[in-house]
Formats: sequence, structure tokens, C-alpha cells
Amino acid sequence: MSIDPRATFAFQGGVGSYTEIAVRGLVADGGATTGHATYDDVVAAVVAGRARYGVLPVEYTVVGTLEDAYDLLASGEIVPVAELIGKVEHCLVAPPGATTATLREVLSHPVALAQCEGLFARLPAARAIAFSDPALAAREVAERADASRGAIASAAAAEAFGLVVLERDVADERASYTRYLVVERAPRPGTPPSPRADAPQKTLLSLSPDARSGGIAAVLGELSHAGVRVEKLVSRPRPGVSWEDVLYVELDGAAEDAVVADALSRVRGKCSWFRVLGSFLRAARPTPPPSAPPPPPAREVREVPPLPPAARNYPRAARQARSEPTIVRVGDVELGGDTFVVAAGPCSVETVEQIEGVAEHVRRAGARLLRGGVFKPRTNPYSFQGLGYEGLRIMKAAGERAGLPIVTEVMAPSQVDPVAAVADMLQIGARNMQNFDLLRAVGRTHRPVLLKRGLAGTIDELLAAAEYILSEGNQAVVLCERGIRTFETATRNTLDLSAVPVLRERTHLPVVVDPSHGVGVRRWIRPLCRAAKVVGAHGILIEVHPDPPRSVSDAEQALSYDDFSRIMGDLRELGGDAVYPA
Ligand code: PEP
Ligand code: MN
Repeated sequence: MSIDPRATFAFQGGVGSYTEIAVRGLVADGGATTGHATYDDVVAAVVAGRARYGVLPVEYTVVGTLEDAYDLLASGEIVPVAELIGKVEHCLVAPPGATTATLREVLSHPVALAQCEGLFARLPAARAIAFSDPALAAREVAERADASRGAIASAAAAEAFGLVVLERDVADERASYTRYLVVERAPRPGTPPSPRADAPQKTLLSLSPDARSGGIAAVLGELSHAGVRVEKLVSRPRPGVSWEDVLYVELDGAAEDAVVADALSRVRGKCSWFRVLGSFLRAARPTPPPSAPPPPPAREVREVPPLPPAARNYPRAARQARSEPTIVRVGDVELGGDTFVVAAGPCSVETVEQIEGVAEHVRRAGARLLRGGVFKPRTNPYSFQGLGYEGLRIMKAAGERAGLPIVTEVMAPSQVDPVAAVADMLQIGARNMQNFDLLRAVGRTHRPVLLKRGLAGTIDELLAAAEYILSEGNQAVVLCERGIRTFETATRNTLDLSAVPVLRERTHLPVVVDPSHGVGVRRWIRPLCRAAKVVGAHGILIEVHPDPPRSVSDAEQALSYDDFSRIMGDLRELGGDAVYPA
């Protein structure tokens, strides 16, 4: 990890801006800088490969944090590689011939103007005029060439636009700095990591602490216990999840340092969203802090229990990765806790009347989630393929009417963002359990994921598939046993109920069972629902239709309203909650 000074550096702003001055310090002969109108344009230039690096401001010593850069890093398209600190030295600049006595107007960015109150006290005849940017203010003053108008900008801007510097360093508080992150395009999955830098590093995380695991205090406690110093915390609204925040945490050290890696594995276990955005080179602080900080507590490495050999493909999904079972929240429903959750609904969303009718009935009978497919994975390409986004819209409306969060399948990475904008939970179907691009795409959303076991997927392959999602940041994954393909033909699939205790032992993630697809025949579903509860599942997923024989897909396994009510009665009779010991 090092910065190549002969590369192209994209930044927001123009000639003579403070950012340009800072970026110039990174560039050697053969390198270049390109100014852009917005931070989004900077990122676009980096992602498209027009610039190797982008430089984004994250913090001003006088006005504080700029959240935009953190939000841009959250996209996952760019990664931080280094920190850069630039000095802000405001000068009073004006066209040749002007003096402090001739000035009537001084233009600059409002923050810069506010930093120079002392200057305006010395120039009672001059008014402060707000402008979009100090360097642009200098250009504006140069273009009009009027001795009554000056600007507050950098000396470099004065030089670039043919202005003279009337006074240097005019800010009330002399030392003012901007901290930037130098970013690069995110490496493609599977790219080998770049060689480890010897220089001091920092690591940037994005995470949402899980309130049930102790929230932010538990996260900070783990870091403090390990002696990892937290240098900055920024809180932003969590996309798509009301009243929850994503915290950006900057810490001392590289993510692969043993002590940091150990602390992060513990922190991950206390989060519903967790992602290492990257480790990057630390910039030297230009001024020493006023007093020496207290020495960090001695670092103590706690022993991590070894993982079983089969778990090498899923370190984050493995039971050992978390001290507590994961609870996945879907709207106000909790999966993985003590309450057995029933998700019910049609195989496919067909009409407004159908989905509204099912939603209403299953809610009255005790279901907590509404299931339904709008993108259907069909064996025959000429069969009904689902109502698509229109189906999603009517399903969401039916769920809202009935007070049920909705879960629906996504089949392609391109569907993930638009569906995640509406659905409360995203389903990965059995046929896509090893569609790794799709797994990564849902791993980047903030919606919980229902991951179904593949028709020929082993239990460990299911866990490795979950690992793809967890590794992208999304920690809210529920596993679903839905039957596997065996030599048996009497049932549609073979519902592998033995997977439930195995999964409960190997992972902290919640486990549900789908007897409908598992057995495929209406009259055999009821006993398997009871069995799923008894064997320790956290819930079931079942297909219900107002007129089962008329169901456009999976008609043989669709349950009538009465069938469904009977099953709910059975489950109530079993009492208790999840019976398998946690
Ligand atoms: C479904 O839930 O409707 C579905 C298509 O399931 P699976 O992917 O398990 O076949
Ligand atoms: Mn189905």
C-alpha cells in the first residue's frame, strides 16, 4: 500500500482551491490532477478509471465533519488508501492597484468569511459577500478587475488569476486544516491483497450496533478492551431502516493487525451491519496535540476458540464468531429469538384480490410475515414468470394493509436495489444459493435476507453462501431448509429436518424451514410444520392460496385458508417457543 505520485488524482474544485494545493503535494513529475464540479464526479472518475485516485475532504478543523465522503465510501465502489492533511491559509487578495483602503466588497465562501472577523474589523468600509468557493471568488474578482472588490482565497489562487496578495494569513485562528481521504477504485472480488505497508495505518468501519447485544457501548467496549483506539465516530441515517444509524468508526491500526482483527471479529458479533471499508495510510499530524494523550491500556489478546475444519469457508457465519445467537429483525418481527415466526402467502402474487385476501387471512390466523413471489424461478421458460415490479407494489400495499412485513425473491443483481427499496426482506431462492454475484449484491443492502438451501447444496455450502452475504456487510441473514434432491420421488424434495439441529450447532444465524417446497404435496405439509417447530427451527415459510387448485404456480402444495388455520392451531398447541436449546 503506497500512493503512486505519477498517477492522476481527481478532486473537487478548481485551480487555486485549497484542495488543489493539498493534492499537488502528492503529485510528482508524470502525475496529474483533474478538478471536478462535485464529489460524485470525483468518484465517477475513479470508478471509471479516468483517475487512479480521488481526494475527498472528510473534516475541517474549524467547521467539523463532512459526511458526504463517508456516504460515498459506503457505496463500496471506492476504498480509502491514505489520509491527507492540507493547510488552509486565507489571504486577502485583490486586482493590481487595489489597496485595503479601496476595498468595499470582499468575496469568499461563508465559512472563510466567518473565520476572518478580525480582518473585517480592520476594514470597516468593506462588506463580506458570500460566494460559492474561495478560488472562484478570486476568479470573479480578477475578471471584473475593480479596485473596490477583493476576495479571501489562497495565495495560489491569487497567482493563478493575476491578483495581488494584500495580506497573508488573515484568519482569526491561524492554524486551520482540512483532512482528506485519498480513495481508489475498490479491488474486484478475488484480487490478491496489496502488500502490507510498514507505515502507520488507520481503519475505517461502517457498522450498526445491535441494540440487543448492548448497542454502541458494547462495540466501543470491545475496542477499548482490546486497546484499539477509536479516533473518530460519525453517525449517519441507515439507508432504508428508519430510526437506525450507521456509524463510521475510524480506528488506529490496520485491519489485519492481529489485535485489531481479533477486536473486529468481536465487534462484528454485536452488529446488524458491519463492514471494513478499508485500512489506509495515516498522515502525520501537522501540529502536536496540546498535551500528550494518556498511554493506551495494555493490549491483551484474548484467545479465540479454534473453528472446526469444516468452518474454514464460513468464519463469520460460524457459531464461534458470535457470543450470542443472531436476531434478525424484519420490520417489527424478530427471527432467531424465542418466538416461532410463521411466514405465509402465495407462491406467486397473482392479483390484488388474491394477495389482499391471503394477507388478511394469514395475519388473522397468526402469521407475522407475508411471503410471495413476483420474480419466479420457473423450470419451464413459458410458464408464468411473475408480475414483476407491479406485483411487488400490490404485495407491499397488501402487507401494509394487513400489518405484515413482506418477503420476496430477487433473481438477479439488477433487481436487488429496486426490490430492496420496497420489500422488507429479500429472498434468495434455492436455485440461486450459489449465485455469488447475487449474494454479494444482497450483502451490500440493509435489508435482511432469507437464504434458501440449494437443491443440491450441502449444509456447509449453505453456510459458505451465507458467508458471501455477511462478508459484504449485511449481518441479517436467515437460513432456510427447503428440501434437497435425493433418489426419492414420492415427495417433491426430501425435507432435510436433520439440517436444523446441525445448523443450530454450526451457526449463530436463525434457521427456518419451508415444508411446502420440501414435500410439495398439500396433505403432507401439516405434520412437517409441527416437526419443524419441535426440531428447533425459528420459524416456517408456507404457501397459502385462496383457491389452491387454481394457483398459477405450485398448485399441488398450496394450502387453503382452513388448512393454514389448522396448522396454526397445531403450532399453538405445541406451546413454548423454539424448543431446541439455544
Ligand atoms: C419460493 O419460495 O416460492 C421458491 C421458489 O422457493 P425455492 O427457491 O425454495 O424453490
Ligand atoms: Mn413456490
